[in-house]
Amino acid sequence: MTERLPSLPTVEAQIEERYLKDWSGLARGTPRAVFRPRTTDEVSTLLRDCHARGQPVTIQGGLTGLAGGAVPADGDVVVNLERMNAIEHIDALEGVMCVQAGATLQAVQQAAADAGWYFPLDLGARGSCQIGGNAATNAGGERVVRYGTMRDQVLGVEAVLADGTVLSSLTRLVKNSAGLDLRFLFIGSEGTLGIITRLILKLQPVPPEPVTAFAAAESTQALTKLLRGLKRAPGVNLTAFEFMSGEFVDTAGRLSELPCPVAPGQPWYVLIESAEGHASHDAGALQTALEHALEQGDIVDCALAASLAQADAFWRMRQSIPEMLTALAPTVNFDCGLPWAEMGGFIARLQDTLQRRYPDARHLFFGHMGDNNIHLMTGPHAGPDMHAVEAEVYAQLRGRDGTISAEHGIGFIKKPFLGCTRSAAEIEVLRRLKSALDAKGILNPGRVID
Ligand code: FAD
Repeated sequence: MTERLPSLPTVEAQIEERYLKDWSGLARGTPRAVFRPRTTDEVSTLLRDCHARGQPVTIQGGLTGLAGGAVPADGDVVVNLERMNAIEHIDALEGVMCVQAGATLQAVQQAAADAGWYFPLDLGARGSCQIGGNAATNAGGERVVRYGTMRDQVLGVEAVLADGTVLSSLTRLVKNSAGLDLRFLFIGSEGTLGIITRLILKLQPVPPEPVTAFAAAESTQALTKLLRGLKRAPGVNLTAFEFMSGEFVDTAGRLSELPCPVAPGQPWYVLIESAEGHASHDAGALQTALEHALEQGDIVDCALAASLAQADAFWRMRQSIPEMLTALAPTVNFDCGLPWAEMGGFIARLQDTLQRRYPDARHLFFGHMGDNNIHLMTGPHAGPDMHAVEAEVYAQLRGRDGTISAEHGIGFIKKPFLGCTRSAAEIEVLRRLKSALDAKGILNPGRVID
């Protein structure tokens, strides 16, 4: 049962199971109350009260996070943004949207489409994740190679600070050099500096229907050469460049009953999407670029989707992650980032080490190569091995200009490893920012940094 706190709005009568966990699977405890405010003023009142009491607060969006950041501890007050889901305003002339933080990503995409515009951020969890959660984690997804991360989609932010202060930085201007840009304090801060309540989003022109291809390559170095070639090819404008290991394609094919679209048994594959002008011109340009890559030996086989159904089948192969998570459970999952030149060595070293130490597990590499992002799913692993697997993988990132999280965030799960890719000076500045904005440490305590 929840406890009613005097002077605070809407308290849930009973804590539902869905407020206790996110997709990381981390379980911590039972909060004393779950609040679902409808307005910024309600959030402000709530935080003012929590601040006065030194009451720890866990902030929740759609709970699709993979780093455990939205998972409450015993005695926390949960603030879930799901009722703050209004699309408040769309300027259809300029392509600018004002939205409450609890709107789902899918609702934002739909509202943009209804107004004749396009919101480019896209991820598998689009129906459940919230736009505020996307901003708090600086979400990436499948179109970053063309449009950037969530940080690139946000023009303005309204956030409520730990003491209840409403900080409205809801500018809608593309250019604003009047001092430090405060929106970037909150994008990627994972709820440690304030609760994001509203966002001003930049919309894009609706892109043409993309052309989709699938190709096979003999090495990751060949894939990076292909990527460089496609980025420079006339008439090709990449919207996705999703690489997958042969083992990933093999596992996805078996679990989803999908045939490999090109030569089977190759070490590496890539799904390519391009949208530039008219679909038939785009197909011609992509075909020419791929033929050139075949001649150069960058790829050994390729197929251009001849229909939407075929393009869907290519994407289903890449998106078979939920089936894999189940089949290989319990898994350890990574979203590392590295410069292209470092990727091949990183993967080869880990393939070797993980295969030797954990021969009964599968180690699947895939990801958004165009965004420097390598995912690894490895499993099944016995509980006691999991931390050792993490330590092994993150140690390989040290000193290589990489990141332990390209898009999912640090939360609780990756906190012990932040120092692998962030310097002591950077972590100290993060601490100073936290204590400047939340001196009592009530917002999402224990996430990202201690
Ligand atoms: P939550 O999980 O609720 O919270 C995440 C963090 O943000 C927590 O620390 C929370 O406290 C904080 N937070 C949430 N809302 C607010 C707010 N309004 N103000 C302040 N802090 C807040 N991520 C990617 O980047 N790319 C992908 O391709 C991708 N694919 C995914 C596919 C699947 C099937 C799943 C389950 C997840 C995927 N994710 C991906 C991870 C996840 O969807 C993103 O991290 C997403 O941005 C989280 O949004 P959420 O609303 O669910 O946030």
